[in-house]
Amino acid sequence: MKLFKSALAAVTVSMLALAPAAHAEDKGLVGVLMPTKTIQRWINDGADVKSQLEAKGYTVDLQYAQDNIPNQLSQLENVITKGPKALIVASIDGTTLTDALQKAADAGVVVIAYDRLIKKTPNVDYYTTFDNYGVGVIQANSLIEGLKARFPDTKPWNVELFGGSPDDNNAYFFYDGALSVLQPLIDDGTIKIKSGQTGMDKVGTMTWLAATAQARMDNLLSANYADGSRVDGVLAPNDGLARGIIASLRGVGYGTGDQPWPIVTGQDAETASVKAIIGGEQYSTVFKDTRELAKTTVDLLDTVLSGGKPENLDTKTYNNDVKVVPSILLKPHAVDKGNYEALVVESGYIKADELK
Ligand code: BGC
Repeated sequence: MKLFKSALAAVTVSMLALAPAAHAEDKGLVGVLMPTKTIQRWINDGADVKSQLEAKGYTVDLQYAQDNIPNQLSQLENVITKGPKALIVASIDGTTLTDALQKAADAGVVVIAYDRLIKKTPNVDYYTTFDNYGVGVIQANSLIEGLKARFPDTKPWNVELFGGSPDDNNAYFFYDGALSVLQPLIDDGTIKIKSGQTGMDKVGTMTWLAATAQARMDNLLSANYADGSRVDGVLAPNDGLARGIIASLRGVGYGTGDQPWPIVTGQDAETASVKAIIGGEQYSTVFKDTRELAKTTVDLLDTVLSGGKPENLDTKTYNNDVKVVPSILLKPHAVDKGNYEALVVESGYIKADELK
């Protein structure tokens, strides 16, 4: 009996010794939903979130929805049937997921809204993002700084405004942040919106499509600037749209001879746009380190699933029409020709030879 007991103890001890390793390898499934692969950052976000979750012992189901709302909804419904512990969702339209998220809540699944707020549901537990209003403020400050430097003697400055996708909650924060800086200058006549088009209902760009921004810029140029006047600046809410706008400007001769490039802003520090900044076509971008967002999100999720209490949550800024969603807001950075190397290259976000 004694022998049996000690043999049993030995087996138990060796099982215990094995147990933590086996357990660490399987903390359960996490569904990760990303909007699209057409924008570089989401590819990085998805890859970073996946690899960091796997390193902590989770199994990951990562899906991209090609910016198609029904696609994302069915991906969400599908992953919920697989019994995940948690969901990380960068929504396309943050108002369309309510019913599916009710099912997730009923099954006790933790839900984190990633980068974009999920609205009109009580069933979103946390939100991790950047200071989106701050992004707009950075864009507008950079626009003004560029206008002062490039066109010091020509006032009023002719500026046109572009917004992001009206179904993306972030787009309103970017626009409102930018207008908080620009509106006083519009009011005192320093900036002239020659087209008269302001407000997200007029300047929004559905699905963040660069081709749509390019077509709208074409129309703005032919309707308002065919009289020989010049656009001095364009508020572009992200890099994809900035490049569409630049293509339109190039089409009518900007960037050649006596037609200098207008000041065009951006966001995301995409490789193609950092190249355009080096080349002088785009003036600036906003660097949001998506590696940091992925890490913050994965750490938050792991804390919550391990029964811990997350700290330093912002419980004021993001009301989703049902409740204030506890959020973590990371810091965005202004990037232009003068500091892209220090911020974007030296941090390893873009490799120097990708910019050649
Ligand atoms: C993100 C931006 C991105 C845009 C288009 C926004 O919600 O915050 O980084 O450029 O979507 O994908």
